[in-house]
Amino acid sequence: MAVKFQHYYQILGVPRNAGEDEIRRAFRKLARQYHPDVNPNDKTAEEKFKQVNEAYEVLSDPEKRKRYDMLGENWKGGADFTPPPGWEGIRFEQGDLGDIFGGVEGGFGDFSDFFATLFGGRGGRTAGSRARGRDAEAEIELALEDAYRGTRKVINLTATETCPDCRGAGIKDRQRCPTCRGTGLIRRPKSLQVNIPAGVRDGSVVRLAGQGDPGGDGMPPGDLYLRIRLKPHPLFTPKEDDLHMELPLAPWEAALGARVTVPTIEGPVDMTIPAGTQSGQQLRMRGQGLKRRDGGRGDQYVRLKIVNPPQISGAERDLFQKLAAESRFNPRELMRGSGRS
Ligand SMILES: [Zn+2]
Repeated sequence: MAVKFQHYYQILGVPRNAGEDEIRRAFRKLARQYHPDVNPNDKTAEEKFKQVNEAYEVLSDPEKRKRYDMLGENWKGGADFTPPPGWEGIRFEQGDLGDIFGGVEGGFGDFSDFFATLFGGRGGRTAGSRARGRDAEAEIELALEDAYRGTRKVINLTATETCPDCRGAGIKDRQRCPTCRGTGLIRRPKSLQVNIPAGVRDGSVVRLAGQGDPGGDGMPPGDLYLRIRLKPHPLFTPKEDDLHMELPLAPWEAALGARVTVPTIEGPVDMTIPAGTQSGQQLRMRGQGLKRRDGGRGDQYVRLKIVNPPQISGAERDLFQKLAAESRFNPRELMRGSGRS
């Protein structure tokens, strides 16, 4: 359905990066200017007043503003607008906003089709309508181990709930409900215990059915989409199914070969370092990476790094000196061929 695009920033006369205060100031000024009480029987002023209210409704609400901004800057006010493909959260019902707000003193009247297309009616849904609740989004930061094994977490979020004063109707005593400003919904902090399944990755989205915004008039609530962010791990860097890490080796371990203990996400594992290992060489530990969808696991890549002891004893110095005297190894030998010996 094509509707006319509303340029909310232009309507309020503010730049795209305007802060909350600037938007509020612009709104107050324009709302005073076009208020129906000041302009009785002036259809143009009334129309302007509605537009200003609608623009403010969107730009003063961080979530609505974000969604509106996602449309990009290519839209012109008044141009035909069709929601881009894949546009989510559209649950437009040809609602009865006009009936609810039109007759109420001080009500703002109806909102544009554009607004309804984007936000499904005033305040995210048509107050008192029979619409499923909107889906909500939240983010959670997890340690790699928790993401790997799955975990139970308490998240704190600002949830939308049915207004307790008007029970979602948006009107109370034939007036716009002051608690929810007529939306039928209120926002309040909420703690939620969530189960994170094993195997989630950075950017995974977990759907929590029924934990979104409440539905209208007995309709089911929306879902909560929880986006996973992984905290940086001190040892492992995940890349797709694999884990990458760096393993320090003493010079003699690299030279002679050694049996070393390597951390993995499932715990320490013994690994053989072959004699003559070079710094930067990478060993693969098959099946020690992240869980895959098919039930298998990725690999762990271990990059070897030869490190010298930060301090050495007199005896160690003696041994190194003996080695230096004995060894015919010249690590720069290969450079001779390239003419910079
Ligand atoms: Zn209310």
